[in-house]
Amino acid sequence: MTSSYHPIEGGYDIPMRVVGANIPYEWMIYILMLIPIGIFFYGFYRRVRIWRLGKGDQHRIDHPRTRIWSVISNTFGQRQLIRKPAVGWGHFFLFWGFVFLFLATAAWGMWSKINFPPMVGKTYIIASAIADITGLLAIIGILVLAITRYLVKPDRLNDTRAMDGWILLLIFAILFTGYVIEGARIAAQIKLSTTLTQIAYEQSASPVGWIFAGMFNGSNMAGILLWHRCLWWFHMVIAFLFIASVPFTKLWHIFTGMIAYYVRDLESSHVRMVYNIEEAESFGVENIEEFGWKDLMDLDACIRCGRCQEACPGYNTGKVLNPKITVIQAMKQHLDNKAPYLLKPIPATDDTLAITDDEDAVVSGAADASLIYEVVTPDVLWACTNCRGCVYHCPMFIEHIDKITEMRRNLVMWQGDMPAEAQSAFTNMERNYNPWGVGRASRANWLQERGIRDMVNLVPEDGKEFEYLLFGGCAVAFDDRFKRVGEALVKTFHAAKVSFAYLGTEEHCCGDSARRLGNEYLYQALAANNIETFEKYGVKKIICLCPHGYNVIKNEYPQMNGIYEVYHYTEILQKLLTEGKLKINSSEPIRLSYHDSCFLGRHNGIYQAPRDILEAVGGSITPLDKSKQFGFCCGAGGGRMWLEEEAIDGFKRINEARAEQLMKENPEMIATNCPFCLTMISDGVKVTDYSESLKVMDLAEILFSHLK
Ligand code: SF4
Ligand code: SF4
Repeated sequence: MTSSYHPIEGGYDIPMRVVGANIPYEWMIYILMLIPIGIFFYGFYRRVRIWRLGKGDQHRIDHPRTRIWSVISNTFGQRQLIRKPAVGWGHFFLFWGFVFLFLATAAWGMWSKINFPPMVGKTYIIASAIADITGLLAIIGILVLAITRYLVKPDRLNDTRAMDGWILLLIFAILFTGYVIEGARIAAQIKLSTTLTQIAYEQSASPVGWIFAGMFNGSNMAGILLWHRCLWWFHMVIAFLFIASVPFTKLWHIFTGMIAYYVRDLESSHVRMVYNIEEAESFGVENIEEFGWKDLMDLDACIRCGRCQEACPGYNTGKVLNPKITVIQAMKQHLDNKAPYLLKPIPATDDTLAITDDEDAVVSGAADASLIYEVVTPDVLWACTNCRGCVYHCPMFIEHIDKITEMRRNLVMWQGDMPAEAQSAFTNMERNYNPWGVGRASRANWLQERGIRDMVNLVPEDGKEFEYLLFGGCAVAFDDRFKRVGEALVKTFHAAKVSFAYLGTEEHCCGDSARRLGNEYLYQALAANNIETFEKYGVKKIICLCPHGYNVIKNEYPQMNGIYEVYHYTEILQKLLTEGKLKINSSEPIRLSYHDSCFLGRHNGIYQAPRDILEAVGGSITPLDKSKQFGFCCGAGGGRMWLEEEAIDGFKRINEARAEQLMKENPEMIATNCPFCLTMISDGVKVTDYSESLKVMDLAEILFSHLK
C-alpha cells in the first residue's frame, strides 16, 4: 500500500529518496492539498471576472512568436527584472530555486506512486543536487530582497506594507524548513546506516541538506524523528498557505506577469488610436470599467517595485504624480472597491464590499469616487511629461502613458476641463496650425530671415524633384532660437548635396502636443491634413527636425494609413558622416554633456547616432548618472511644453533639475537634439551661476560649426 506508514531507513544500495517516510497518514496530504488548490482557483476566477469588466478592445494576439519569446525571456530569463542587478538576480535565483524544488518534489512524488520518472541512481543524485543548490540560491535571493526592502530601503520602496514582509517570511520559511526536514531525514538515515558508504551518496545528492543534518548531531533518534514529523506537517501547511494566497496577494504577479509578457504592447511608442472619432459617443475613460481588460489586469500585475516612481520626473520634482502610487495603485484600490458593485449591481453607497483585504493600502479609492477627479485627479494627469521612464523600466510592461492619455482625453474632450494654457495651445493649433499661434501664412518666412531660401526646394513653388521631405515642425518656423538650428541643418544638407524639399505653409503642426494633451480630435485633424499633403506630393521619405514630430509621424501616422520612411535628422547626419559627405575641421576637443531627449531615446531607442556626431567633431561626452535609457526628461514632453510648471517647495522645476544634472561634470557645452529640450535646458541653465559661460546648443549647430 503506497499510503501506509513506512519508517525512515538507512541508505539504499541504489541512491534514491523515499517519499513520505516517518509520516503517519501521509496519504492525507493528497486530499488536503485540494483545499489550497480550490482556494487558488476561486481567487483566480474572481480576478479574471474583474478583468472581464473592462470594455476596451484589447486582443493582443498578433505576432505570436514574438509574444512567446517575450514570455520565455522575461519569465525564465527575467530579462526585464535584471536591469536592476542586485534585486534582479536575487529574484532570478528565487524564481529558479522554486522552479527546481517544485519539479523535484513533483518528480519524487510521482516516482513514489507510479515509479515514473525513474528517480534513482545517478538521475536521483543529479536532480536532487540541482534542486538542493538552486534552493540555497533561492534563500540567498530572498535574503537579498529582504535586505533591500528593510535595510537598504531605497525610496522606490516607500510604500512597504505588512503583507510584503509576511510574504518574504513565508517564502523563507518554506525554503528553510525544507532544508531542516531534509537534514533531519539524513541525520536519521546516518544513524540507521551500518556503514557510511550506505548513505554517502547524499553528500552529493543533498549537499545543503547534509550540512543541515549536522544540526542533529547531539540528538537521539526519537528526537530526530519527532522533529522531522512535526516540521514536515508545518512545511506542508505553509506551502498550502502559499498556494492559497497567490491570487489574493502580490504573489499573483507569478501569473499576471506571464500573461502581461504575452499581451504586452509590442509597438514601442504610440498612444492608442480612436477609430471613427466622428461617431464616438464618449471620449477617453471616465470610469475605471471603461478601460480594457489588459489595463485592468495591469493593476493586478503591479508588484509595487517602484521602478516607475524612481524614473518619474514628476515624482522626483515633488509633484503629486507618482506612477506607482497615485496612478496604478490608486486605480487598483478603486477597482477592487468598485468591482463588487459592478459585478452585482447594487447601490454604491459605501466601500464595505471591498474585495481586497489589504488594510495597509496607502491610497484611497472608494467605490463611488470619481476616477478622474478623486482617484487619480487632474493634477496627477497633467503632471505627466510622457517621458516613458515608467513604461520602459516597469518589469511588468504596464502601460501607464496610455492610461493617463485616456483619462486626459476624457477631461479635454468630454468634460471640457483642462488648464487654460492647454486651451490656448489648442486654439492656436486650430486657427494657425501651430501652438505658438503665429499666423500660418508666415510658416516659411524663417527661410528668408535666416538667408537660406535659395538652398531650399520649397514645395510647390520650386517644383523640383526631391528624395526627402524635411518636416521642419512648428519650432523651426516660429521659435527664433530654433530657427538658427534649422539654418545650420539646411546649410549642412546643402553642403552634403542632400536632395530635400520643404512644405512651407503647406506643412501643419504634427499634432503631437494635441494628442498627448488629450485632444485626439484636433490631433487627427492635423495628422490627416499632413498625410493628405504628403500623398499629394508623393512623399516617401521624411526627415524630422524635432523628435516629437519624428515619433508621431513614424509611429502614430501609420494608425491613419500614413506610412513613410521616417528619420530624425541626427540619423541622416550620422549617415552623411559615415559616407564621408561631410568634412570636419579638426579642432580642440570640447567637453560636453549630451541630453537624451525622451522621444528620441526611450521612445525610439536612438542613442548612438547623436553620440557618433558629437564624437566626430571632437566632443568628449561627460559621463552622466542619468543618460540613455535612464535619461531624465527636460519637462516639456506630453504637451507640457505649453503648460506652466510650478516649483514645489523643496524641489526644483524639472528643467532646472535636469540642467543641474547636465552641469555636474562642468562641461563647456550642453548638446540637445530637440527644440523643446533646447528651450527647457537653456531656461534651466539661466537660473544658475553658469548661465554666462555655458552654451546650450543643438547637435545640428555643433556639427555645422565644425564643417570645413
Ligand atoms: S507600475 Fe511597474 S514599475 Fe511601477 S511599481 Fe508597478 S510593477 Fe513596478
Ligand atoms: S511618462 Fe514619465 S512623467 Fe509620465 S508618469 Fe511615466 S515616468 Fe512619470
